[in-house]
Amino acid sequence: MDAAEFRKRGKEMVDYVADYLEKIEKRQVFPDVEPGYLRPLVADSAPQDPESFEDVFKDIEKIIMPGAASPACTELETVMLDWLGKMVNLPKEFLAEKDGQGGGVIQGSASEATLIALLAARTKIIRQVQSEKPELTEAEIMGTLVAYASDQAHSSVERAALIGAVKIKSVPSDDTFSVCGSALKKVLDEDKAAGLIPFFFCATLGTTSCCSFDKLLELGPLCNKENIWMHIDAAYAGSAFICPEFRHLLNGVEFADSFNFNPHKWLLVNFDCSAMWVKKRSDLIGAFKLEPLYLQHHHQESGLVTDYRHWQIPLGRRFRSLKLWFVLRMYGVRGLQEHIRKHIRLSHQFEHLVLQDERFEICAEVVLGLVCFRLKGSNELNEALLKSINDAKKIHLVPCHLREKFVLRFAVCSRTVESTHIKFAWQHISQLATDLLKTWEHNHHQQ
Ligand SMILES: *Cc1c(COP(=O)(O)O)cnc(C)c1O
Repeated sequence: MDAAEFRKRGKEMVDYVADYLEKIEKRQVFPDVEPGYLRPLVADSAPQDPESFEDVFKDIEKIIMPGAASPACTELETVMLDWLGKMVNLPKEFLAEKDGQGGGVIQGSASEATLIALLAARTKIIRQVQSEKPELTEAEIMGTLVAYASDQAHSSVERAALIGAVKIKSVPSDDTFSVCGSALKKVLDEDKAAGLIPFFFCATLGTTSCCSFDKLLELGPLCNKENIWMHIDAAYAGSAFICPEFRHLLNGVEFADSFNFNPHKWLLVNFDCSAMWVKKRSDLIGAFKLEPLYLQHHHQESGLVTDYRHWQIPLGRRFRSLKLWFVLRMYGVRGLQEHIRKHIRLSHQFEHLVLQDERFEICAEVVLGLVCFRLKGSNELNEALLKSINDAKKIHLVPCHLREKFVLRFAVCSRTVESTHIKFAWQHISQLATDLLKTWEHNHHQQ
C-alpha cells in the first residue's frame, strides 16, 4: 500500500468508526454466535497471493462484527496463529485446529513469552516432584530448580528466571556462538550430581548479538530425555522460517514444548505482536488457572473455545490478531517471503562490500539480515569508528561484544530499503574509516 492509498483507507476507516458510533443503538449488546463460529468462515491457511484492502475490509462486517464483545477476538487469534504456524511449518502438535492439544497466542513481547514458558515449566516440575516426594514444600523444591540458556541468550531470559525466582545458568556457546548438546549435557550432569533439578532450557534461534543458532537437533532430544521444558526464543529469526530455504534452521522444533517469534520484528506487523505456541495447552492452563465467579462462563476450554486469560499474565486483551489478518492477506505469503529474501540479499550485499575491503573483517556467519563486522585492529579503534558513524547520524549501528571483541552490527530493517541504501551506507562507513585511520595512525606515531 503506497502513501496515497494509505491516506484514502485511513480516512475511510475514520468514517467507519464514526458510523459505528452514530448507529450503535441499532446493534445488539451481546452476540448470537456459537463458540467456534469463526473458523468455518475463514480459510484454513494464509493466502499465497496478496488480496486487496477492500476485500479484507469487507470481511470485518461479515465475520468480525457478528462476534463482537470478544468471541471474534479470541477465535480470530486462534485461527491466525494456526495460519502463521503453518507458514513456518510448525509440527501439527503446535496447532489448535478444531480439537488440537496445542495452539498459539499473541503475547506482547518475546520476554513475556519466555516468562510464561518458564512459569508453566516451574509449576509442572513442582507438581511432579511433589507427587514423588510429598514431604517437600514448594519453597524447598523451588530452591533446587535450575533454568539454562546460552551465554549468548537475550537478557530477557535471565530476567524471566529472576521474576520466576529460580536459579539460571548460562551454557557456554561454541566458536560459532551456538550451544551444542554436549555443552548442555556437561552442565546438567554437574548440577544433577550437586542435587539440583534442571527443569527449563531456553534455546535461541538467531541470537541478538550475532544471529547464531543453538543446535536444536542435539539439544531437543537431550531436554526430552532429561524431562526439561525446552522453549525456543526465535524473536527476530522466526520470520525467516516462512521461506522454505531457511526453514531448516527450525529443524528440531518438534522436540520443543514452546516456541516464540515476533512478527512485529520482521514480518511487517506493527508492535506489539509476539507469537507463541505450545504443544500442550494444558501445561499453561494447568499452571495459571483461577476461576472467580465473575469470570465463569458457560463454555469449557477446548480446541474450539480458547480462554486466553489462562495463557498470559493480564486478564483483558487487545484485538491484536486483526493486524495479522490484514498483513497476511494483503501481502500474501509470497509478498512476505519476498520481503525477507530481499533483506537477506541486501545483508549479503553489505557483507561482500566489507569483504572487499582489507581493512575490515566479518565476525560471524551472515545467515539472515545481520552483518557483524569490524576494522582489523583494537577495540578502541572500533569504538572510535562506531562513535564517528553514530555521531554523523546518517545511519545508526548498535554494537555488541563477541567474546572479547568489540563488534559493529549492520542490520537491514526498513520496509523500503533498497540496494542503493546499502551502497550508500558502505561508502559512508568506508569514508569515515579512512578519516579515522588517518588521525589514528598520526596520533599513534606521536605517542
Ligand atoms: C529482540 C529479542 C528479544 C526481546 O524481544 P521483546 O519482544 O522486546 O521482549 C528476545 N530474544 C531475542 C533473541 C531477540 O532478538
